[in-house]
Amino acid sequence: MFGDVIYVASNTLSDIEIKRYSRQIILPNFSITNQKKLKAAKILVTGAGGIGTPALCYLAATGVGNITIIDSDNIEYSNLHRQFLFNESDVGKSKCKTIAGRLRAFNPNIDITPIETRITYGNAFDLLRGYDAILDGTDNFPARYAVNDAAVQNNIPLFHAAALQYEGRAFTILPQKSACLRCIFPEPPPPQDRLSCREAGVLSPAIGIAASIAAAEAAKYLAGLPVALTNKLVVFDSRTFDFRTLEISRDENCTACGKKFIPKPVPETENCHIG
Ligand SMILES: [Zn+2]
Repeated sequence: MFGDVIYVASNTLSDIEIKRYSRQIILPNFSITNQKKLKAAKILVTGAGGIGTPALCYLAATGVGNITIIDSDNIEYSNLHRQFLFNESDVGKSKCKTIAGRLRAFNPNIDITPIETRITYGNAFDLLRGYDAILDGTDNFPARYAVNDAAVQNNIPLFHAAALQYEGRAFTILPQKSACLRCIFPEPPPPQDRLSCREAGVLSPAIGIAASIAAAEAAKYLAGLPVALTNKLVVFDSRTFDFRTLEISRDENCTACGKKFIPKPVPETENCHIG
């Protein structure tokens, strides 16, 4: 399926940008036109944590020209084993402002906008407007389901990734065309069955793999190339490197993307964290 990107591609790439992205521009089925589409694109990454960090690195590296980051947390020592853009001297500082600074230094040709706020069901539908794509790196069920419902209702493609312990998953949501998060997981698990990486742990490279899959899908979509993971859920186990691609399909009764939208905020509870 080809991404039907409708925004107008940026007209210019500097000589430095052409050199910088040269190994990408020479790819089969890739050209300066695709690179200009990436430069003109606006993506929102929800969460500057374990998924957000590697995803943001690759989105900035590929040259997505306008990246907005939403996160309300400050950096903790326990973040550093997987959120590798932060240093020990950053502990206590704002995640999204710190990562914005690192990404601006990494690629000064793109615009980075940090928004320091917490995503809720009440603000997601307004916050998640005006973007060409959203990559979800939220670390709690209330925000993850709010992002899904708002992206689908605002008709914005959503690139999903998650990881826990040694396992990860990723898939791509094109609203009204492919299954959304609620089509396959209508509700989060009950609070007593939820595991977070605070309790269960996560292998740092496993979360990087899941994030990289979502970032690759998002970058291809924004460049106008075909995406692969619509109606397909990739799950992997980094202990065995058994990758499986599960066929999934839209549920016509889905409360987010089905015949009738029904707002279903996930209650904020003590153990609503997943990342
Ligand atoms: Zn759905």
